[in-house]
Amino acid sequence: MPECIVCKGYYEAGRPCGRCGADNRAWEDWQRGERNTRWPLLRFLALHFYMPWVIAGWALLFGLIGIVWPWGGVKPPFLVLAILLTVVLSVLTAQDVYAARYALREDALLQRVRRGKARRAGAARPALAFLAPAIAIVVTGALTVLLVRSSFLWELADWFVFDDSSSASQIDGTPEQEHDLSTRERVVRAFPLMCLIAYVSVPPTLAYYSSTKVAEEYARRLNERVPQPIFMREALLVDVVRREAEHIAQRGNPLEESRHTGTSATMGLVSRVWTWDEMDRRDDGGVRMTAVVADTKEEESITGQVIKRSVRTVYEVQADAWGCITSVSRKE
Ligand SMILES: [Zn+2]
Repeated sequence: MPECIVCKGYYEAGRPCGRCGADNRAWEDWQRGERNTRWPLLRFLALHFYMPWVIAGWALLFGLIGIVWPWGGVKPPFLVLAILLTVVLSVLTAQDVYAARYALREDALLQRVRRGKARRAGAARPALAFLAPAIAIVVTGALTVLLVRSSFLWELADWFVFDDSSSASQIDGTPEQEHDLSTRERVVRAFPLMCLIAYVSVPPTLAYYSSTKVAEEYARRLNERVPQPIFMREALLVDVVRREAEHIAQRGNPLEESRHTGTSATMGLVSRVWTWDEMDRRDDGGVRMTAVVADTKEEESITGQVIKRSVRTVYEVQADAWGCITSVSRKE
């Protein structure tokens, strides 16, 4: 069964959602349009000038040019692996963002109703996408420093990565000078590898940032066509949670059983009145509600007389941003 764009409940195709009453025809048309497109990923990337794939293409071209300079001092197999890895990661990044396009849209909309810690955590993902290229450059610098200063890593790089045919010149001098020159020599010799690490890390992060921009444009266009999610429509959210909480409480209710069987002599609950008292939004976009439930019960006294007794109970009902009840607890 298809999933409602408003409340994520399952509904019968072509009919309004039984849970929230949403008309999903625009959503169904949107999905049908995507299914009937031969290259949906291309259509998605066209929203931002195919930028993630343009970055992957430039990465391939720059990688091939880089064989001449600057990473001529790196062994060819390692070089080919780095170029392949960069191009594949850049392409897969765009594919990954495309696969997550609905989730990214929902997350961006949820961010509008989140508060406190949940809002700060939600803001971290777009910030990370923006800062990822800069982080990649910082990580490249840190790895270079680690490589130059660590004898173990330097030897590993010397065995597996550096091409001996382009090794640095021999250095003569005093022990102190040798140490200085040796460090400098390491930096010079590590330069091709430093460029290669930057090459492997920067294009995929740029492709990721660019892909998130595509996803933002995709979400903007989808939002213009389909109804808003339930967490942005507070009255609807409250209504759905209230109805489902009352439905949960009715399960196993002796009053319902007596109505169905028509046995008026059944002892137990004879009436239940819900009064919804307080409502508060949770930090994650969900809702917290308080209900006062007044039950009238029939009880048989020791003399055999049937008496009615009123019982008042306060419940706290919590639901997530999609109106799914996560807890019902008795407060008094
Ligand atoms: Zn729905």
